[in-house]
Amino acid sequence: MNERLAGCRIFVFLTLTLCAGSMFAAEQIREPSFLTQVFSKGSSAEIESATSSSFTGENTAAAAIDGDLTTSWEAGKGDQAWLTLKLKEITTVESVYASWNLAAAKAGEIQASMDGENWQIIGVFTNGIDFMSIFTPCTPTKARYVRLLCQKRYIKPSRKVRTGGYNLREIAVNPVLKPVMAEYKKPVIRHYTDAESEKKANAMLVKMSLDQKLRYLGGVNVFSTAAFPEIGLPALQMDNATAMGIKEFPNTAFPATILLAATWNPELAALQGKTIGEECRYHGKHILLGPGLNIYRNARNGRNFEYMGEDPFLVSKLAVAFVRAIQEQGVMATIKHFVANNIEARRKSNNSIISERALREIYFPAFKTAIQEGGAEAVMTSYNLLNGTYTAENAWLIKEVLEKEWGFNGIVMSDWRSTYDPVMCFNAGLDLEMPYYRAMNPEVIKALLAAGVISEAELNDKVRTILYAGYHFGAFDRPDGDPSFPAGTEEHFANVEKVAEEGIVLLKNRNHLLPLPKTVGKIILAGPMADNLPPTGTGSGAVGYPKDGRPVSIKAAFEQRLGADHVISCGTPEAFAALSNDELAAADAVIACVGFNQKGFGTKIIEGEGRDRPFELTEKQNNLISRCAAANPRTVVAVTSGGGIDMNLWKDQVGAILFTWYTGKAGGTPLAKIVLGEINPSGRLPISQESKWEDSPGAATFAAYDIKKSTHIQHGFFLLDTPYDEDILVGYRYYDTKNLPVNYPFGFGLSYTTFGFSDLKVTVSGAKEAPDVAVSMTVKNTGTCAGKEVVQVYVHDVVSSVLRPVRELKGFKKVELIPGESRQVTIHLDRNAFMFFHPEQKKWVLEPGKFEIQVGSSSRDLPLKKSISL
Ligand code: BGC
Repeated sequence: MNERLAGCRIFVFLTLTLCAGSMFAAEQIREPSFLTQVFSKGSSAEIESATSSSFTGENTAAAAIDGDLTTSWEAGKGDQAWLTLKLKEITTVESVYASWNLAAAKAGEIQASMDGENWQIIGVFTNGIDFMSIFTPCTPTKARYVRLLCQKRYIKPSRKVRTGGYNLREIAVNPVLKPVMAEYKKPVIRHYTDAESEKKANAMLVKMSLDQKLRYLGGVNVFSTAAFPEIGLPALQMDNATAMGIKEFPNTAFPATILLAATWNPELAALQGKTIGEECRYHGKHILLGPGLNIYRNARNGRNFEYMGEDPFLVSKLAVAFVRAIQEQGVMATIKHFVANNIEARRKSNNSIISERALREIYFPAFKTAIQEGGAEAVMTSYNLLNGTYTAENAWLIKEVLEKEWGFNGIVMSDWRSTYDPVMCFNAGLDLEMPYYRAMNPEVIKALLAAGVISEAELNDKVRTILYAGYHFGAFDRPDGDPSFPAGTEEHFANVEKVAEEGIVLLKNRNHLLPLPKTVGKIILAGPMADNLPPTGTGSGAVGYPKDGRPVSIKAAFEQRLGADHVISCGTPEAFAALSNDELAAADAVIACVGFNQKGFGTKIIEGEGRDRPFELTEKQNNLISRCAAANPRTVVAVTSGGGIDMNLWKDQVGAILFTWYTGKAGGTPLAKIVLGEINPSGRLPISQESKWEDSPGAATFAAYDIKKSTHIQHGFFLLDTPYDEDILVGYRYYDTKNLPVNYPFGFGLSYTTFGFSDLKVTVSGAKEAPDVAVSMTVKNTGTCAGKEVVQVYVHDVVSSVLRPVRELKGFKKVELIPGESRQVTIHLDRNAFMFFHPEQKKWVLEPGKFEIQVGSSSRDLPLKKSISL
């Protein structure tokens, strides 16, 4: 991605103006950038003029002192360049604050002069990094002129070559930094529960030198914290793949987390968490960089496969189960990406504009619950800005909400390379900058500390937080892996299969086409997934596979069951074209295996990190399905995807549709088992499958998301506002409230048996302020085979002073029943199930009145209803 600003001078104003519709709440929670404040308030010594020794055709020196972060001094390509500032009057120069764009000076000097001819060195720096600001203290010296001498270019570790002339957006002499963000300088008061670990953390803190503490704020080697063996402090090791597994071998690749969500089964989330936790222990990983709790806002977000769907309640329940289970293994969970990272393309440019109510009701709950009920030990901030401020620099988000309101005591780490301003990051509450220090550069932080802009108490608080987590989890006592834990075992693989088998969703099954009889004569597998099934989406959520450990293909899974003679597989366009229509028509069934992340049948569409994908499959894949369906009514479509797709070209023609998501190491086996009736599908959609893209709440955002329309920049990125105009109406909250048709509603999924609901009873007890609403009903297997149903309880607020979604999921339970069996299910709702976040009162309220309890098997199939008054 080329999000970076190459030459920003075409932009005239740094404007963080928010779109009118979302102004009200966003205004209140937005922090103006620290840099904006420093350079726009004119708080530094007054500078009369600026000149430059080296420039690119045009002398742009004045741009470095104009208080405008969007304009910059661009030096020529020589290694040595200086920028000379003439002060308005003789001043004692004590410090300089410089803010770089692309192409920073890594090393240089600050020089002072009374006459502009005789210079004396009063400060040096060796820590410039592109897009960062550096603070350089100087030996106090009276001067009329100050000169910034650039001597050495900063070159990205990933790049061998330098990137053009030095580029400095702003410089200030004697900046007055202290009052800015003063309120956030106070460290949060921590309430540690484990006195022993707190004691150990404090003891280590005493042993650490200032330099060691400063170094501790940044990661090393991409996936670990700093280690100081000389004082007995080992590193904390981290690993990825969100909630799907770890990268090292031996390991076990779970299905995409969206599939886990489709199981609607917290017990499976716990099983997954435990299994991955054991593998972390085997490999000596102390922190898992997952689970991902971002809400599915629309189908095109490339990372949907890593998340758990559109409903905050469902995500919360699964997250708590996963987090608890992995942490019981002594491995810290990192809930990410906090918050509102719902777009992947140009994610560092994206400014999510969201009302406080939507944050509180939709985007926060899973994080809050994972912390308060699950005990999540680490939080990772996100790449995007929230209402004008990068999340790693967002004091309201970290200090106010996360730490003060929710009582979070754990580690707040940045997403990889998503930090910019040292003071903002430090004072906003970030503890750990990953994968290494950039903004919280030890030298810069040290200088800021000496200047009193940041406090040692806060530095200690950050270090103590990381230390406490390490001691509390016993991680420092076991720096290495422990092979007594299982990893990559048969048992672990069996756990993968259990999850995969429960998460596949049967969306359509015309005339009970499925399951196919085991005696089936011939089936045809067609499409890009048939011979080679991608186990998951791409990016940091992709689990590693040893060469011989690829998942079993769909073809192999069917051949194992039916014998190779009964299976024809056409995994390439050529093989499919060679098949006659008569052959297609003669097959007992045709399974069209379509989706993303596989080549052939049109350009490979990548679904994964750092990009968004189209709503549509490739034209060739759509044509393939249409051709199969036209030739054979027994066409089954199996979709490999992390979210909704356009099905309209073929949905009504085909006989059956299965959403298989990505099945991880289980490969094609669960699909074959479901198609052949070895297992009864019990997955339910954790998303709404919209009828057309334009209907989806996020569609307008995508249409408007054009980087060329950017009107402002921050930290070197063109910014683009993404107004969340749908506000609290995300997913079914939107479709159901607006009464829009959907292809398949939230919560929906078919089974090979049928279920009936009856006898709804709703009993209210307990105190008025803390009611307990017991919702009980009977669910019966009315069909002919054993199966699992997900009982779903929604709350509808009958009259409300503010707009509320027509219904919201507030309880669910998955039950297994044999034919004819009935079970009484009781689900308890507490006051939270009835509350909303009042946009004006800025607090959660339970508005007395009538509520309807709706029970059934999807947001659009709710046969039982009963009203209560609270
Ligand atoms: C991703 C994170 C991931 C990190 C480390 C980032 O690009 O957004 O989810 O944990 O990389 O790999």
